[in-house]
Amino acid sequence: MVDEQTVLSVEQDSKEPSSAAEDEPPGQHAEWNSWIWQMQHRIRSADDLRRYMPALDPDDVMRAAERFPMAITPYYAGLMRSPGVSDPIYQMSVPQLFELVNSPYVSDDPLEEHDDMPVPGLIRRYPDRALFIISSACAMYCRHCTRKREVGVVEETISQAHLEQAVAYLREHPDVSDVILSGGDPLVLSDHQLECVLSAVRSIPSVQIIRIGTRVPVTMPMRITPELVAMLRRYQPIWINTHFNHPVEITPASRAACAALADAGFPLGNQSVLLRGVNDQPEIIETLCRELVAIRVRPYYLYQCDLVRGVEHFRTPLTRGLEIMEYLRGRLSGLAIPTFVVDAPHGGGKIPLMPNYIVSMSPTHTVLRNCEGMLVSYPEPDLGQATHRREGGGEVPQPGVWELVSGKASAIYPADSSRIQRRKLRHGS
Ligand SMILES: *Cc1c(COP(=O)(O)O)cnc(C)c1O
Ligand code: SF4
Repeated sequence: MVDEQTVLSVEQDSKEPSSAAEDEPPGQHAEWNSWIWQMQHRIRSADDLRRYMPALDPDDVMRAAERFPMAITPYYAGLMRSPGVSDPIYQMSVPQLFELVNSPYVSDDPLEEHDDMPVPGLIRRYPDRALFIISSACAMYCRHCTRKREVGVVEETISQAHLEQAVAYLREHPDVSDVILSGGDPLVLSDHQLECVLSAVRSIPSVQIIRIGTRVPVTMPMRITPELVAMLRRYQPIWINTHFNHPVEITPASRAACAALADAGFPLGNQSVLLRGVNDQPEIIETLCRELVAIRVRPYYLYQCDLVRGVEHFRTPLTRGLEIMEYLRGRLSGLAIPTFVVDAPHGGGKIPLMPNYIVSMSPTHTVLRNCEGMLVSYPEPDLGQATHRREGGGEVPQPGVWELVSGKASAIYPADSSRIQRRKLRHGS
């Protein structure tokens, strides 16, 4: 695959100071809608920063960028309202000195992905799924990236030799039925390169579904061209997971990219990362999830930020995620609620967390609470064992949890929830 016509090598050619656009202020360049132009004109140097963000002192940015690579598409930079830490786009894309400050718990590879790689680039942590890294490059380098240790350090796409090794492994391991193309970003490959990978993976009879994990609909939506979509359709079933973190990333262009993919029949999911100072407010996640469903992108995971070197400043306490999940349930369509997961250190894999809805249990009754604080007793089925029977008729006037768990009462209502008030109005009492 390291063939002459890779987009990434085209990019290196463009570094010669030639094009007149180099001196133009950022804006809607004539080639704005070409993804190749966007890739070639990513912000990568102090000079680029000065041109796009004149108010910024590039020295600190470049010190951090020397440690972890920087690249920002002009499109994504254009979503920034004010270059500073109050801006979510700035936070996610512009290097900061905080990246050089670490806690004792972080490591380069907290998920221990390198220990789960039977062949280079193929990570197999689960029996039926494998994650296949086919690119080390992205359109934009997220400051919070879990694979920060290697993504963007060199920009290359999978070699023919590694592709063959991975395909041979997958043929010999028919348990793997779900292959996730990842990186870096698989969609920085040219259509031709990507088709080589897809046709090789699709030729393995045991592979049922192919997933593509890509942030390109968010950071460089013009990549979703009709030609790309037509090519991808030949390798269905393909599920596409993207990575929106904040409602400001939902723009006419990213909407159009998602619509093109959804219209072509690719189910779309979203994997967000909870980031301190970016999206760690319940209202922001609520708006994000609502708007994602409106563009036919199903919120799939909300990730706790990993214990990765260089991202400590983004980490939230686990309680923040739980608080957000508490807020979403009941307010939002179930379709819009992601699963909050911690990708456990030491390669423990994804562990879902949610607020506790079980209040108490006995062999006969489980006491649950809903999002309003109503406590309700769920009677277990009678499987022939001795069961407590509710003594006497009628409910206990002021039940506690004990009365619920022993079957003496069936619910405890919050005094004035809005739902109870709606019911009262309807019943005219
Ligand atoms: C996240 C992940 C998967 C996919 O997990 P799902 O829960 O099925 O989405 C597979 N392999 C690796 C290594 C992963 O990190
Ligand atoms: S797009 Fe994904 S792989 Fe690329 S830098 Fe962002 S988080 Fe990392």
